[in-house]
Order: sequence, then C-alpha cells, then structure tokens
Amino acid sequence: MVLSHPELPQQTLRSGTVERKLVCRTFSDCTSAPRNGLISGCYPLDDHYRHREERERLNAAKRRAAGKSD
Ligand code: SF4
Repeated sequence: MVLSHPELPQQTLRSGTVERKLVCRTFSDCTSAPRNGLISGCYPLDDHYRHREERERLNAAKRRAAGKSD
C-alpha cells in the first residue's frame, strides 16, 4: 500500500480517512516491470511512474506476454 501511496500513513493520520483511489489494486505493474528489466514502481497510480517512458515499454511487454501484437 505504501508503494502506491507513500503518503498514506501521514495523510490517514492527519485526515482520519483513506484516499481510496490511491490504494493498491494489485495490478502487478510494480512486479511485472522488474521482471522485464524495468524499474519497479506503481505505474498505474503514481504520477511519478505513470509519465515515465518505461510505462510504454512495460505496456508493450504485457501485450507481448498476452499474445497481442504492438
Ligand atoms: S502497480 Fe499495482 S500492485 Fe503495484 S503497487 Fe501499484 S496498484 Fe499495487
């Protein structure tokens, strides 16, 4: 949960609520990326990773693994 939302503990303690849209939804990009030689990170939910060029490379690797062409 902290990988997808590093500020979760601080924000939750401060506000008393959990920002649900940032909670890990087990998309597995954080583990699929390193299996494909890319850095780990929460590509779907964290803007820091969402806008990296590695995201397109990860998506291409996932399409290949699913048997879909680019
Ligand atoms: S990529 Fe998916 S599994 Fe990994 S931290 Fe983000 S939401 Fe969770």
